[in-house]
Amino acid sequence: MDTRKRLVLTDHTLSVLTEKLGYPKLQDWQVTLTKHILDGKDVVLTAGTGCGKTTLLFAPLLAFRLEDPMAIGLSITPTKALGRDQVCRSPFSVVAILRPFQERSAMLKGIPAVAINEDTASRASSNEHRDLVNEAINGEYGLVIVSPEMLTSNRFKPLLNNQKFRDRLRLVFIDECHLVEEQGSDFRPRYKEIGQLRHRLPSFIPWIAVSATLPNDQTFNQVMVSLGFNPGCYIYNHLPIDNPNICYLPQFFEHPISGSTFLDITWLIPSTITSAADITKSLIFCNTINLGTRVYRFLQKLLPQPLHSNEVVLPYHSLISDEGRLHVMERFRSGATRIVVASDCFTWGVDVPDIRQVIVFDLPSSFSKLVQQIGRAGRDKEQAYAITYAPPWVKDINKDPDDLTKREATDLHRREKMCQVLRAWFNPPLTSCPREVFCIHFGDKPSHPTNCCIKHNLVLPNMVPEQSRVMAFTPKRTKGSGLRSDGTYAPFATKKDGLLRDAISDMISTWTRRTWDEVRKKNSLLPPTSFLSQELQDHLCERFHVITSIENLSSLLGDWPLLEQHKTRLFSFCQEALKGLDDLRKEMREKYEVRDREESEMEKGHSLKIRIPIQPKTRRDESEGEGLEDGEPPKKRRCKEL
Ligand SMILES: [Zn+2]
Repeated sequence: MDTRKRLVLTDHTLSVLTEKLGYPKLQDWQVTLTKHILDGKDVVLTAGTGCGKTTLLFAPLLAFRLEDPMAIGLSITPTKALGRDQVCRSPFSVVAILRPFQERSAMLKGIPAVAINEDTASRASSNEHRDLVNEAINGEYGLVIVSPEMLTSNRFKPLLNNQKFRDRLRLVFIDECHLVEEQGSDFRPRYKEIGQLRHRLPSFIPWIAVSATLPNDQTFNQVMVSLGFNPGCYIYNHLPIDNPNICYLPQFFEHPISGSTFLDITWLIPSTITSAADITKSLIFCNTINLGTRVYRFLQKLLPQPLHSNEVVLPYHSLISDEGRLHVMERFRSGATRIVVASDCFTWGVDVPDIRQVIVFDLPSSFSKLVQQIGRAGRDKEQAYAITYAPPWVKDINKDPDDLTKREATDLHRREKMCQVLRAWFNPPLTSCPREVFCIHFGDKPSHPTNCCIKHNLVLPNMVPEQSRVMAFTPKRTKGSGLRSDGTYAPFATKKDGLLRDAISDMISTWTRRTWDEVRKKNSLLPPTSFLSQELQDHLCERFHVITSIENLSSLLGDWPLLEQHKTRLFSFCQEALKGLDDLRKEMREKYEVRDREESEMEKGHSLKIRIPIQPKTRRDESEGEGLEDGEPPKKRRCKEL
């Protein structure tokens, strides 16, 4: 039975809390919800980024600790990849800046806090022989911030089962609670297990769930059920999620993003700039580190020479060292760095208030991810822009379904399968706009501020690429060459090029076999496909035309475990083969043209000559002597026989 004494928020306690939290005044909703929590009630809050949602963690926890200095709070947060070295306990140190936001905030408010996830736990145990879980059991902390993975692991069980800890536990706080149901989220499987924790903890402990991107539809109810919030038994508060100072500008790519040139964003660095300050402070989100690196390199190329070495543009992702990321963040905060090309890890815990433009470069996996990312713009409440790019297939077309080409029908099928809110964001109904799509999704009252969106706006950034730039980055085309503006070739997949495709397939299997012969263990009887699977070979064949950079090759064969070892060699093979194939295509096309003109010559045909890049022959090649000679087109049959 719940015999715990409820806390009442007196005026005196309130003024102490306000002072400790460092605010001039707590907002009414913060006071009301804190009272409910102190009264043991569960609370759910949806509110936009930067609204002070974590006050619902700190205010009640501080109040509980005023009454009992041993009181403890448990916060469940996606802190993956944010865990920091625990040696340094000062919240003001350099290392501490990279600590999870809540841990830093708690320490600044006088609550000893610890973030326990895989990284921090392993690091503390191997570097300092410390056991963070044990320290928490011994009451060294007032706040334990835990990742969902750690929460549900055996390593954490001793803490949850410890009677002293359970006696001292006063609240459970769940950050980013939408992740419980978010499709495609890495955190989702673990977040779904959080609800089970309820049965293991005393029932009178209040649970608080907050999110800036929890939609107002059936997902809301699903999240509540998963977290064990029973209907009618919790207090729900919704604050507007929409930020009126952000202008929403959904766009479609007009240029490909598979190569190393990104003409759609040349406008970010106008050719007229004379100093770094002329570049608007922008944050670009890319879905993969690979794409981010290519975008970063491209922007770097756009800078005038004197700015090249000034770190005006910098990348930010999880493979960069802690110190490196801190360096980027400090430069970006100070404004010395004007553009950061980031992966998703910039979304958590990084606070740079004056980002004027957020560019979401490529389609995110969900609408809530997109909202998290664009929420980084204009946190200082000044005018900011959210520019989100989608590939052309996302664009709805007004056409009778019976009249669709095969390609259009495929695109339609993809659109029907994609997240429909994202689809509506990029294709808002005629009478609506992206902001309305946003507001309706989150249950906000739709409004149209001065610079609302792509449809209702007064001032827009000039997003048209300068013609001189487009020309500069468009490779000169030789007659009939298949090289496209992004530096990749046109696919070798047309009817006329059918023969070329077969040739590519043969070349790849020959390369695979030869390389396998060289690298396999002497007695290995495994086939060459154990080295590079047929599936990957087919994939390579299908996309062979884009392998004009090693980055493209890496992203194409990202699933190949031996990529790092063999990529240079495979790339040089591809380079040479591509050139040969393109020349051949040119030659063939010219011949086709001639043939079309002079039908009488059709009978004569033409001989195919494909130059296969040669690797140094190995002993096995010689001994087996299966005779693939330079200049001779390999035959598929031969590969199968081997
Ligand atoms: Zn609008």
